Amino acid sequence: MTEAYDVRESIGFIGLGIMGAPMVANLVRSGHPVVVYDRNREAVDRVVGHGAVSTGSSREVAQQSELTITMLPDSPQVLEVMSDVLEEASPGQLLIDMSTIAPSVSRELATRAAEKDVQMLDAPVSGGDVGAREGTLSIMVGGSEAAYQRALPLFQVMGSTITRVGEAGAGQVVKACNQVVVALVIEAVSEALVLGSKAGVSPEMIIRVLSGGLAANRVMELRGRNFLEHDFTPGFKVDLHHKDLGIALQTARSCGVVLPASAAVDQMLESLRLAGHGGEDHSALLRVVEELSRHVIGTGATPVQA
Ligand code: NAD
Repeated sequence: MTEAYDVRESIGFIGLGIMGAPMVANLVRSGHPVVVYDRNREAVDRVVGHGAVSTGSSREVAQQSELTITMLPDSPQVLEVMSDVLEEASPGQLLIDMSTIAPSVSRELATRAAEKDVQMLDAPVSGGDVGAREGTLSIMVGGSEAAYQRALPLFQVMGSTITRVGEAGAGQVVKACNQVVVALVIEAVSEALVLGSKAGVSPEMIIRVLSGGLAANRVMELRGRNFLEHDFTPGFKVDLHHKDLGIALQTARSCGVVLPASAAVDQMLESLRLAGHGGEDHSALLRVVEELSRHVIGTGATPVQA
């Protein structure tokens, strides 16, 4: 029999950025008590305004919670914070990392947790800041069925598509696959827009027509306006997507898989970072394709030579 989540258990939440803050707001709104920590004081103040309770450190969160969730940038931060949390954790507690990190790190943490009789899930998400605010994230979960069932009521507050995809680390593997597809679709849309625009067709027309056929995709649907207006307010930052393709390439290398297109887009994202655009939305990949072709979409055609 699986242990059902008890609403009286307190929830700890560490990492209150673009994603973590609205996830906490939804948990609080649904009646769950939540204690929080972030090293950025302003981030803490924002969620305290939504009804969460502030603590002074990750260790204090672990001491005050039966169930601790992390939503941090990358593997080093999750390793650091979860190491502190694990030192404080007592048998029976449940730790859920919802950040996007390397599957190898998730597996290592799950092994360390099991040694203390602490349950651990990797539960990365897709759906972005909008999905976090609306509680419609897609959550891909790696870990035991018992831990999954215990966390499910909480996942249902934060997300709408929730799937246990395998044992520890499997959630991160699926997330890496997701990030490969999203990056390559953004790059493909950017190529289509630059080709069409420089060859004399309006970018709006390209998006409208492509949206009606096999080329239709969610990137054009959700970010179409951003491409057309060169509005690269994040959203999902170039820095984070570069991190995620690094995870995909590292995982591919470790199991003998070749990802040629992902490697190329990884380099394009790196060039954006070096040009100072790492904090922009990942749709800014358009800038790289425009730069390569010496053409800004929507600024007039060059007669077609070929
Ligand atoms: P963010 O940079 O907005 O937030 C991260 C937060 O973690 C910040 O508030 C930061 O102060 C805090 N933090 C960092 N190190 C810390 C530490 N050692 N102790 C305590 N707090 C610390 O990032 P985000 O956009 O919220 O993304 C979080 C995770 O979710 C990342 O792994 C990202 O890849 C993933 N993700 C993001 C999106 C998105 O659209 N933003 C979508 C899906 C998944």
